[in-house]
Amino acid sequence: MDIFETLESEVRSYCRGWDTVFERAAGSALYSEDGREFLDFFSGAGALNYGHNNPVLLRPLVDYLLSGAIVHSLDMKTPAKRRFLETFQELILKPRNLDYKVMFPGPTGTNSVEAALKLARKVTGRQHVLSFTNAFHGMTLGSLSVTGNAMKRQGAGVPLTNTSSMPYDGFLDGQAPDFLWLRLALEDSGSGLDKPAAVIVETVQGEGGLRAARASWLRELSELCRQHDILLIVDDVQAGCGRTGTFFSFEDAGITPDIVCLSKSISGFGLPLALTLFKPGLDVWKPGEHNGTFRGHNPAFVTGTAALEHYWHDDTFELKVAGLAAQLHEGLARIAAGVEGATVRGRGLLAGVCYPSPETAGKIAAESFARGLLVETSGPQGEVLKTMPALTISPGDLRRGLDILAEAAEFVTGAPVPLVSTV
Ligand code: PMP
Repeated sequence: MDIFETLESEVRSYCRGWDTVFERAAGSALYSEDGREFLDFFSGAGALNYGHNNPVLLRPLVDYLLSGAIVHSLDMKTPAKRRFLETFQELILKPRNLDYKVMFPGPTGTNSVEAALKLARKVTGRQHVLSFTNAFHGMTLGSLSVTGNAMKRQGAGVPLTNTSSMPYDGFLDGQAPDFLWLRLALEDSGSGLDKPAAVIVETVQGEGGLRAARASWLRELSELCRQHDILLIVDDVQAGCGRTGTFFSFEDAGITPDIVCLSKSISGFGLPLALTLFKPGLDVWKPGEHNGTFRGHNPAFVTGTAALEHYWHDDTFELKVAGLAAQLHEGLARIAAGVEGATVRGRGLLAGVCYPSPETAGKIAAESFARGLLVETSGPQGEVLKTMPALTISPGDLRRGLDILAEAAEFVTGAPVPLVSTV
């Protein structure tokens, strides 16, 4: 038994599957204390989209820290915050024609979701919020109330109220028209559905099993919300910051959510930072009505600005990510091919294989770790093998990781994986 087991709470989880002590990391590689190298198909659950210790971000961070500049400032004004806001406006919002106010809630994804829910209720004066089957939005009470997973919900210890769950895209049999119930329920005053303040949705369900909503489904949802004066919140905590191929995961669908949640890779370096974006007309907060000690974290502004400047000043990076995504999906399709009922799920570099038998993905993840690859599972029963390589991974490392996955999958399922194509 080591200190992690004797002193640290039973609540710890990742370190159980990956039972080693990680000491160093660079790009898509992690190194354990005992000198083993691991390839990373996990990327800090999406907080390391630009890889570990990326020098493009590390250098300005170190310079900043050594310069005597402000580190902690709540929501006071600093040059680092000014530059982040200016860069975010110029490189992200303006080119996409998005007119959003920027709020810095506490630094985690769930902080951003809590702020979004609170604001939607305040603006509309309504309590009810609609969410989707298998959604995951975080572990604080408001976020849990719109999360699907029964085990996580139970952890709340109190009733999770003022929310209802609806079928996500692909949850039903594919025969029923999309949003049949919601449309009828909103139009029928006898439906028993309290008019909701908002609908909260992930465009790809990161934790809930990698279901990716179709663009047409998202557009219909957006239109339905608009018709009924319901706010649309897109939780882009995991799928945003380029993970699905574009900066925001909803860009391809052509929708403009009323509120957007960002965290994880917005600092780019794994430093905690979150944003809640909303249309200017929704900015009804009173000063200090929602606050927190750790919001404007200046080192995170510095790395976040560097990431935007380096990777998002034109579409070169997006094109590169599209190439990597094609390579990843091709590899996953080969891995899924031999197993009856296995399907590829997800979008961009947030993709995986859903297995008909719930233990398969977990066994493959364990075998992958033994072979030097970090990869996790997703879905209510962990039935989806979930890959999330860095957006900066080299095609060679991506191929190497896919080879390990293929070997591990062959070992577990007994189904041969066809040889790698020349992608
Ligand atoms: N929303 C989504 C879509 C997420 O994937 C997560 C984290 N997995 C969260 C919210 C919560 O973020 P955090 O763990 O930083 O609170």
